[in-house]
Amino acid sequence: MNRENPAERTALHHTQGTGIERIAYPIGIRTTTVAALEYVTPYMLRVTLEGPGLDGFHTYQFDDHVRVIFPDPDGTLRLPVPNEHLMLNWPHPPPRSRKYTVRRYAGRELDLDFVIHPGGLASTWAVQLQPGDEVAIAGPPGAKSFPQTYAHYLFAVDTTALPAAARWLEESSDDVSADLVIEHDHPEEPAYPLAKRADVTITWVPRGQLAPAVQQLRADPSTFLFAAGEADSIKPLRPWSKPRLPHLFTGYWKQGQTDHDE
Ligand SMILES: Cc1cc2nc3c(=O)[nH]c(=O)nc-3n(C[C@H](O)[C@H](O)[C@H](O)COP(=O)(O)OP(=O)(O)OC[C@H]3O[C@@H](n4cnc5c(N)ncnc54)[C@H](O)[C@@H]3O)c2cc1C
Repeated sequence: MNRENPAERTALHHTQGTGIERIAYPIGIRTTTVAALEYVTPYMLRVTLEGPGLDGFHTYQFDDHVRVIFPDPDGTLRLPVPNEHLMLNWPHPPPRSRKYTVRRYAGRELDLDFVIHPGGLASTWAVQLQPGDEVAIAGPPGAKSFPQTYAHYLFAVDTTALPAAARWLEESSDDVSADLVIEHDHPEEPAYPLAKRADVTITWVPRGQLAPAVQQLRADPSTFLFAAGEADSIKPLRPWSKPRLPHLFTGYWKQGQTDHDE
């Protein structure tokens, strides 16, 4: 798999490509330090990581993610090792890890936004972080890329994919229109800061109402649907979107399932 020149290959697909293409990056393992912690809502903790370990970090798409790697229960941190294929060799058994979107990367700083929920390894770990703590991250490995030349974009997400949608709002061209439908669990969550754009509508709906809300919106081949969030919440949109519009679906988590991976 080609992992060279990811910035150029991504830009080319965004401007001239057709369909969905997986663009791979060189995968690094990086040790960072917690620089700041901020609750952007009572249920979303922004963790700012910093340090020279972020030099040369690769992120070219709004939904790029890293794997946050956690110590074993006895406190031992076992990290993967880079290999000659620009990938990582993982120890066996692999250390526990979870995927988080690169909300912002600038120089030696990186923001990750953690949804805070009961019973999660990552969520519980995040709320205990302190400035100065070390955090190991692997990736991003690359992402499925789609052209940024559609006339309209439709986002069907919950708060776990809100960091991705928020980054798209900041990085995509101002003259592109979009509808964002965001499913939430708590009345405080719509306070999440989002860039205001002239041709973008943002609709918050309570959990369970994502699919019906999206199905009322513009859906034709000039619109691209990005659907990500709880696997069963976005499921009804799969058969609906298939004959109507180009789309990318990713279940970011699944109710009752630990470390869901799809
Ligand atoms: C590409 C990608 C990018 C992602 N980006 C982000 C991101 O930027 N921010 C983010 O918060 N999440 C993100 N996620 C989702 C996150 O990886 C999962 O929610 C993960 O399961 C959280 O790990 P945990 O250890 O807290 O919970 P786990 O230990 O994996 O799960 C424990 C229990 O909690 C439930 N659970 C998991 N997540 C949630 C939730 N959000 N709300 C309520 N219950 C939950 C599970 O169903 C399970 O019953 C992303 C996932 C993917 C695949």
